Amino acid sequence: QKFKALGISNEIIRALNEMGFEEPTPIQLEGIPVLLEGKDLIGQAQTGTGKTAAFGIPLIEKVKKHPGMVQGIVLTPTRELAIQVAEELNRIGQFTEIHALPIYGGQDIQRQIKALKRHPQIIVATPGRLMDHMRRGTIKLQDTQMVVLDEADEMLNMGFIEDIEQILSTTSDERQTLLFSATMPRPIQNLAQRFLHDPALIKI
Ligand code: AMP
Repeated sequence: QKFKALGISNEIIRALNEMGFEEPTPIQLEGIPVLLEGKDLIGQAQTGTGKTAAFGIPLIEKVKKHPGMVQGIVLTPTRELAIQVAEELNRIGQFTEIHALPIYGGQDIQRQIKALKRHPQIIVATPGRLMDHMRRGTIKLQDTQMVVLDEADEMLNMGFIEDIEQILSTTSDERQTLLFSATMPRPIQNLAQRFLHDPALIKI
């Protein structure tokens, strides 16, 4: 089994089988071992390449079961993508005790605060709303070991770059940082240079 050869644990392999994932896609084949090793990554890939599972599988693997503070953050440009990514993470993690919660602008904040009290280990958020929770103290990122920037160029277009810088600055320097973007405009290159350490580069 090709997924197994990448070093993925049985409970996740079981979920992938159930999801109908038989073979890893190219970005998964290249990306998963690098990420399990703990390296930072720049993935230049479009939607449809299987990038969500490429970062989602290592993210679920690395998160510890004990509920506590947020261990993994995925930033997305839109609420739709936040919901979709959280769903895929929860499917990948269905046989683990790891949960991902989507947090986005436009949804009732009290409802989100209530959901946060169940201590999801992973949060998939739009940057503005995450900042709002950080200011309120309802999300703390001191324990966050992995940050994924999904569709970074879209987040740039939507004016989220300063929020992203602020969020990354709040997390530990020891974190693993992943940046996915279909295109690599200058501000995204600068962001990568500032916040990623010796990243692996995968272009699909
Ligand atoms: P993404 O590029 O992450 O948006 O994924 C595109 C679609 O491919 C999603 O519906 C995934 O669930 C699906 N997918 C991802 N990886 C695989 C795989 N290894 N085998 C089959 N389908 C996959």
